[in-house]
Amino acid sequence: MQISRSQTTTKRPECTSHPGSDFALVCQHLGVGEALGVVTAEELPGEPPQSWCHACHALFVARGMKWDQETEAAAAPMAVCAECYEIICRRNHRAELRSFKLFAVMLAVLVVAGLLGTLLIYLNS
Ligand SMILES: [Zn+2]
Ligand SMILES: [Zn+2]
Repeated sequence: MQISRSQTTTKRPECTSHPGSDFALVCQHLGVGEALGVVTAEELPGEPPQSWCHACHALFVARGMKWDQETEAAAAPMAVCAECYEIICRRNHRAELRSFKLFAVMLAVLVVAGLLGTLLIYLNS
């Protein structure tokens, strides 16, 4: 899954915060949004890292996992510097995924506590 090659030849952006960095590609939504969800392409040699948001991914899947005119128009990939790319990806990782993990951990703790309680009752009887 890669944004088409034509897009990867986008001019290297000159980042004022991180001059001289490599560049990467993100969809237009990730570039400006936050907590949109991040889907990262498999890294290929010679290709810049690429990520797009969950909405773009849903369209991408609906279009048969292909980047065509419609998906590329929706994603409108933009080149960002590699340092900014890391920041953008971190900013867009879904918060609820983190809280879901916390929820799973708490559920596991409750189950273990429940089992221990049952075991204690069993041992005391
Ligand atoms: Zn997007
Ligand atoms: Zn930068």
